[in-house]
Amino acid sequence: MVPISQAWTVASYVLKQKLMGRKRYPLVLMLEPLFRCNLACAGCGKIQYPAHILKAELTPEECFKAVEECGTPMVSIPGGEPLLHPQMPEIVAGLVARKKYVYMCTNALLLKEKLHLFKPSKYLSFSVHVDGEREHHDFGVCREGGYDIAMGGIKAAVAAGFRVTTNTTLFDGADPNSVRRHFDQMMEAGVESMMVSPGYTYDKAPDQSKFLGKARSRRMFRAILSNRNPKWEFNTHPLFSEFLMGKQNFECTPWGMPTFSIFGWQKPCYLLQDGYADTFQELMETTEWGNYGAKSGNPQCANCMVHSGHEASAVDYNFGSLKGFIETAKKYMFKPTYEDADAMKLLNEWKPASHGPLVQIAPPVKSAELQEVSGD
Ligand code: SF4
Repeated sequence: MVPISQAWTVASYVLKQKLMGRKRYPLVLMLEPLFRCNLACAGCGKIQYPAHILKAELTPEECFKAVEECGTPMVSIPGGEPLLHPQMPEIVAGLVARKKYVYMCTNALLLKEKLHLFKPSKYLSFSVHVDGEREHHDFGVCREGGYDIAMGGIKAAVAAGFRVTTNTTLFDGADPNSVRRHFDQMMEAGVESMMVSPGYTYDKAPDQSKFLGKARSRRMFRAILSNRNPKWEFNTHPLFSEFLMGKQNFECTPWGMPTFSIFGWQKPCYLLQDGYADTFQELMETTEWGNYGAKSGNPQCANCMVHSGHEASAVDYNFGSLKGFIETAKKYMFKPTYEDADAMKLLNEWKPASHGPLVQIAPPVKSAELQEVSGD
């Protein structure tokens, strides 16, 4: 659950857009200040750039300008690994000063040692990438010991009074029983709430066999998210969770989470790269939005169910009609656990897929080397 002040800020922002009659409005800015990373995950489509691109980064001023241009109440900072950006504390402080709710995504390899550079605030959450229990996470990020370091970072941040959330990306072969245990463990570790999403079929990702089709995704999420532990807290919209379970059908809203990076405003979404615009206005006016989403027939969108394309659709539905508003209010008030006997049977009969040995795509990066790259 997100804090009431954040929910109120987002709700009033969306209502204002509706009252202004804006058909397309952004909800969360995906701000990518760099693509450099200290991991090389098999399912990632962001780090396969040549060295000169991986060295490039946005300045704090470029970040603030992008935020002001699009005006979203929330900013997510993915990457790359944002903690490798030497001016990340300055960027985060500038966004917090602008009263933006910031989710700084991190694999947490450097979180413990860089924590002192940030100040706890209701506007700042560290969104730690943890893909599941220890073995599953280390396999997913192709780095032995990655889980233990991430958990150390989470515990240190929680103890220091920061808001900490997690984000979990699931690929084919994920074991729903293990994912459910992972959720229990994250709540026990003191995280505020969790986000879960299927991975996207990046054509640049090194392991193409990992991606899920839509029917398999729905089956897996139904097994994971039905019969849920009432202690689980998610920071995604409840109807997005129902969309993953196959209980809602949303079309993509690619403009809901626009992406700004060293290349400019990315068309049309966080995942695809069909060109760039120099300004947010140009992005909105020159993108052929009808060419995207499952309905468009675009094969690149056919299997996509990711959070960055579909959560804004759930939010828009929430505020688009009285029916949507009441439906959502009930979910927040009564927090359903989605009792489902068939899903329980599915869970009990699920055979975990075996995977081969863990292969480290990149050699483990030493702390001293990271310091050198990040310029500290
Ligand atoms: S369906 Fe997915 S890939 Fe296609 S525009 Fe939407 S978010 Fe992007």
